[in-house]
This record gives sequence, structure tokens and C-alpha cells, in this order.
Amino acid sequence: MGLIRKLVAEFERPRESRPFGSGWASGSLSILAGLAGLLLVIVRFFPETFTMPELQVIHDSGMVTFALRAVLLFGYLMALLSVLLNRRKTLGLTGLALVVLASLLGTADPMGISLERQPLYFGLDYFVINVIVVGILFIPLERVFPARFEQTVFRSEWQEDMFYYLVSSMLVQVLAFLAIAPTNMVSDLFDFTQTRAFVGTMPFWLQVAIIMAATDFVQYWVHRAFHTFPFLWRFHAIYHSTKQLDWLAGARMHFVEIAVLRGLTAVPMFTLGFDPGAIQTYLLIVYFYSTFIHANLSWHFGLLERFFVTPRFHHWHHGSERAAIDINYASHFPIYDWLFGTHRLPEKDWPVEYGVVGNDVPRGYWRQFIRPFRKPKQPED
Ligand SMILES: [Zn+2]
Ligand SMILES: [Zn+2]
Repeated sequence: MGLIRKLVAEFERPRESRPFGSGWASGSLSILAGLAGLLLVIVRFFPETFTMPELQVIHDSGMVTFALRAVLLFGYLMALLSVLLNRRKTLGLTGLALVVLASLLGTADPMGISLERQPLYFGLDYFVINVIVVGILFIPLERVFPARFEQTVFRSEWQEDMFYYLVSSMLVQVLAFLAIAPTNMVSDLFDFTQTRAFVGTMPFWLQVAIIMAATDFVQYWVHRAFHTFPFLWRFHAIYHSTKQLDWLAGARMHFVEIAVLRGLTAVPMFTLGFDPGAIQTYLLIVYFYSTFIHANLSWHFGLLERFFVTPRFHHWHHGSERAAIDINYASHFPIYDWLFGTHRLPEKDWPVEYGVVGNDVPRGYWRQFIRPFRKPKQPED
């Protein structure tokens, strides 16, 4: 564990003591590439267990092998660069070891191993692809246009949020299963035949827009309920406990809240007869959108801020000062906050600080997982 501690200390090194050219960034990238390579190798060995069926097309086309080679080559070059530049070598050598290990494992033939098809799969590849695609998109943007300049990629508690990211990616199928229950209940209770036929005739983009509006309406009230009822707030406080916001911060959400939120927002999406393509497009949009509104991005959108949720609008939701409490619940359209009296967006400012008033949420995934089920020590406000 000594190495892990040394690595984490290296990652969290303050900006001043790792200027450009010190081998810090290349070393970190080589480790990331080595880990991504290892995960991809594992996916190739156990395709049945670790692969989302929806991603099978990508695997069959040989893209995983190509991605693996590209990632390993990149990691190898970065590791060499870091070892050359950095006196301490911890990052570069660790990255090199991971890349070499992944290369050795990767050259073994996974075809000889066939496992029985399992009913439950874990989206490990989904996680790898998520982190790589979303990270590559957002990390450079956050470096160039930061709302908070002093914040670094490896901010405090980044490991916890990465773990949240991993868990919810790995449990995609379990969550999808949980989410379908309320939909089934509603469609048993009501007959949507006519509505479904009508919705089916709508143009594709109108369907996507309606899904966004309908799910955000449900999301608004579910979210507001999580703030209003003390029992629900105990779960939602975990989400609000993050003190620095960036592309990863939105991942921190208690499992119970994810299940409730996804289950209820899925009801209009699955009962009203939308085209599956429109639903998938919506899911893709929402995935990037929710990452975007948490990102540490300074962009101002002028008039657009009144119609669409922006990072600044949502950062206010996470603010811990008096003026930021219980506001801005919408996640796509601020109009819901206008309509229901919870809208607040100062002219130009950002909130001073983020987090939970009282700051009483413990650190770490498992402690946060248990906390809502424990009896509160004192009555909460
Ligand atoms: Zn909230
Ligand atoms: Zn948020």
C-alpha cells in the first residue's frame, strides 16, 4: 500500500511544484493509459461478464483491439517522457509497469477462453469508454476555461467520485432493471394506446425535445422532494457533500437516490410511445449534459442562461451559502424553477462555496452509503 500512498501524494501535488515539463502530466497520463489498457484486456478475456450487449458491435468490429494498441502505445511514450523529465520517477515507472503488464496480458489469446453466458453483466467497458471519452473532452476544457482556477484535476476527494463513477457504470443493468418497475406499474394502471399512436407520428427531434421536457418536469419534483423531506434529504445530502465541482462531481449520488430518480424519470420516457432512437438520443444528450453542468467551466451564456441550465445555474444549486439553499432544481430547463418559485441566478457571480451546511457527511463511498440508514445524531434542519 506504500506505493499507492506515494502515488496519491504525487497526484495531489500542488500546481506550483509541478510546472509544465516536470513530467507530472505525462506520468499521470501514462498511469491512466496503463489502467485503461489493463481494463480493456480484462474485458477481452471475459467478454460475457464485462460487456454491455449494446457495445458488442464495437467489439466485433475490432475497435477494442485497435483502441487497446493505441492506448498502450500512448501510455508507453508518456511513461518514457515522464521518466526522462521527472526526478522522482514514481509516476513514470508505475505507468511503465502498468503498460508493460497490459501489453503482456493483451498478447495472450482470449479466444481460447469461453465462459457460459451470464444473466448479469458488468459494464466495465462502459466505464472505460466513459472515463476516456468524457475525460478527454472535459479535462482540457476545464484547464483552459476554469471557473475556479486554483482547482486541479486531482482535487480532494476525486478518488471517491471516480469510485462512484465506476460503481454506477458497473451496475448499469441492475439500475436499468430497478428503473423499469415504476414504468410497468404505470402502464398497468393506465391505457396509453391513443397517446402512444399520436406520439409515434411526431418528428424525431420533437420527440427528443418532449422527452427532455417531460423527464425534467418529473426530475424537478423528485429533486425538490429530496430537498424537502428530511428522510430523503439524508440520501441527497451525499450528492451535495462534494465541495469542489467538476466533470466527475455529479457522479456522487447514493444508490437509493439513483434508483428512485431513474425509476421515476423513466416513466414518461417509456410509457408515452417514443421512438427507441429518440430515447437513446435523449440518454446520450443527458449523459453529456449532466457532466457539462457540473464542470468547472467559466462560460457565460447570456440570454441562453434563461432557457437552458448552464454550469453557473447548476453550480448555484450546489452552493452552501444562505442564498443558494433549495434553489435551481431543474437539470435542463430553468423555466420549471421560474414557474414553481425556486429560480435564482445572480447577474454574474458564482457561489462562494459548495457543500452541505454543517458539513456532516463522512468521507468515502461505504461510509456515505450507510449514513442515510443510521439514526441522525441530532434533529436536522
Ligand atoms: Zn439537490
Ligand atoms: Zn449537481
